[in-house]
Amino acid sequence: MVRTGRRPVGRAVLAACLVVGALVACTGTPPDADRARRGAADAGDPYVPGRGNGGYDVAAYRLRVRYDPADDRLTGHATITATATAGLSRFNLDLSGLTVGAVRVDGAKAEHAREGEELVVTPARGLARGARFAVDVEYAGVPQPVESSTLGLGGFLATADGAVALGQPDSASTWYPVNDHPSDKATYDVEVTVPDGLAALGNGVPVGRTSAGGWTTWRWAERSPMASYLSTLVIGDYRVATGTHRGKPLVTAVAASLPADGPAAASLARTGEVADFLADRFGPYPFESYGGIALAEGRISYALETQSRPVYGPGFFRSGRPDTGVVAHELAHQWFGDSVSLARWSDIWLNEGFATYAEWLWLEHDGGRTVEQTVAARYAATDWSQPSVDPGRANMFGDAVYQRGALAVHALRRTLGDDVFFRVLRAWTTERRGGNATTADFVALAERVSGRRLGALLDAWLVGGTAPALP
Ligand SMILES: [Zn+2]
Repeated sequence: MVRTGRRPVGRAVLAACLVVGALVACTGTPPDADRARRGAADAGDPYVPGRGNGGYDVAAYRLRVRYDPADDRLTGHATITATATAGLSRFNLDLSGLTVGAVRVDGAKAEHAREGEELVVTPARGLARGARFAVDVEYAGVPQPVESSTLGLGGFLATADGAVALGQPDSASTWYPVNDHPSDKATYDVEVTVPDGLAALGNGVPVGRTSAGGWTTWRWAERSPMASYLSTLVIGDYRVATGTHRGKPLVTAVAASLPADGPAAASLARTGEVADFLADRFGPYPFESYGGIALAEGRISYALETQSRPVYGPGFFRSGRPDTGVVAHELAHQWFGDSVSLARWSDIWLNEGFATYAEWLWLEHDGGRTVEQTVAARYAATDWSQPSVDPGRANMFGDAVYQRGALAVHALRRTLGDDVFFRVLRAWTTERRGGNATTADFVALAERVSGRRLGALLDAWLVGGTAPALP
């Protein structure tokens, strides 16, 4: 993710620190004597209390939704295929707002209840540990946005011509029932039905479009495991361009209200070129499709690395000039964050530090500032009292995560030399492809591939309280 007007994200978020005390107070796994039978109501991640669930592992989401911009109403049918990781008499899904009709587990009617933003499902018969099961949820309503204290507006947002579902660290539960934590990645098949004439864009490969009775159904398949916050849905009046790049579909969409030859269109048009530049350094592009979506919706003040198809807010292109730096940042996340995903949000520097560093590499390549110039400026501006690892929920999009995180990546490069450094990155993206990992996993891999002890170096650059000497 990158915010508009980028970086120095800074101080505005500090007001939320008071909230952190309360959040930290409710960290960890809720005490629950019935835990062995009841799936936990969250993933135990203090950065997103209440999000995610325990007791099962989702393999696939099949979502069929219909949205009518005339009344903002969404009707949905989700089929979730999962495996029980414990014996379960009931389990939770995350779902914000919306009204649930029928719920079925393996085709049999199940009881369901709402507890805040949780949907509690009690199957007719308990699920044995290891059992594979399918949950069908029918639901409807007017989905709502969420105002995050850290990122800004997210969730499901009705726009002038349609809607946008987007946001980090959580947004998915505003439009479908979900295990809403990146530790439970899954594949997605999504069908979106909208009035004829509107586009409905999602993640992954386009798998057909049909029209009937004034409605058009757009189908998308993301067959690589995807974290829920990386799923998106964009509905509206868009110029959609479908081509191929290196044998894979490349789908870009630019809001029709933006100029066809303007800076947003020009920036997205370089998607394939930027992806190739990154692939030369990070290893093969990890997904089956490419693309990007440029919004005209001014309330979205950021760009997000939604899997295989990043979404860009309009602020990046307001200057009238293209911004390929943000394209490089969001595409770098396809390796760092999307393919190799967080296991917990306190490690978000693993996403943002590498994406920011990739942006520095691209800018140098594209005739902008050299990496050394950027490093010198960022080093001088760094507040070393702020850690990159476990920065606190209120600072998860702060400079310590992005800029200091990228400086740590550069320090590693200078220490190892380019050859070994890029071998480390390619080993990371290859060995961890499609999975989840932690900071400790990265340090261990870097030490193994380089044959050097790197813990002290990375500690100093990521969390030490004083400025380390540049290697
Ligand atoms: Zn980012």
